[in-house]
Amino acid sequence: MERLQKVLAEAGIASRRKSEEIILAGRVQVNGEVVTQLGVKVNPEQDEIKVDGRTINQQKKLYLMLNKPKGVITSATDPGGRKVVTDFLPGIRERVYPVGRLDYDTEGLLLLTNDGEFAHLLTHPKHHVPKTYQATVKGVPHGTLLDKLRNGIELEDGMTSPAEVEYADVNPEKNESVVEITIYEGRNRQVRRMFEAISFPVIKLKRIKFGPIFLTGLPRGKYRHLTAGEVKELV
Ligand code: URA
Repeated sequence: MERLQKVLAEAGIASRRKSEEIILAGRVQVNGEVVTQLGVKVNPEQDEIKVDGRTINQQKKLYLMLNKPKGVITSATDPGGRKVVTDFLPGIRERVYPVGRLDYDTEGLLLLTNDGEFAHLLTHPKHHVPKTYQATVKGVPHGTLLDKLRNGIELEDGMTSPAEVEYADVNPEKNESVVEITIYEGRNRQVRRMFEAISFPVIKLKRIKFGPIFLTGLPRGKYRHLTAGEVKELV
């Protein structure tokens, strides 16, 4: 890891002193985020660094999808030593990071990339990328309750925006049902909180679709590269 101003100077952008000014002026992005503090450390082989929107270091862009198992943290590292999503990427030496997050107990489709701009675009609230989840809930919520979820429901951080909600399966013997829900936001624990709000707690949650990408065919705990076509469709 090296100090950002040193990396800029070594890339021939400007002297170290001038590079500091360029950083302070907000002209430098690291992995899609503007950095205005001096002393930030970067890895020039793994982090994408841009000055005035132009990439100064070339890196191979990776776009992956993982079928995340439950009991795994959506993070690249965990100081507590728990399993993290990057443990499921054997053979990937580049540093990739998750696009948004799934809860520890949620399984299913998670994108990972080292393309900061791509990640930023897909997680920015204004992009409204649809995400579809299969929620297994105790009991069978009535149609009018599902209408509440469809129309928007009050949570402690405000009303949810309209969602698509359908029964996928009803199991009267087990007194459980599976509901497919598509949301266009990505608030913390949103699906779980929406079902809690109608008093049908989620007992299992799986993301099956992200934008145009389906989880289908990818075994639990496995990853694959997205095709160039899939990456194009996403942005
Ligand atoms: N909503 C949740 O409640 N949890 C997730 O992991 C994703 C969406």
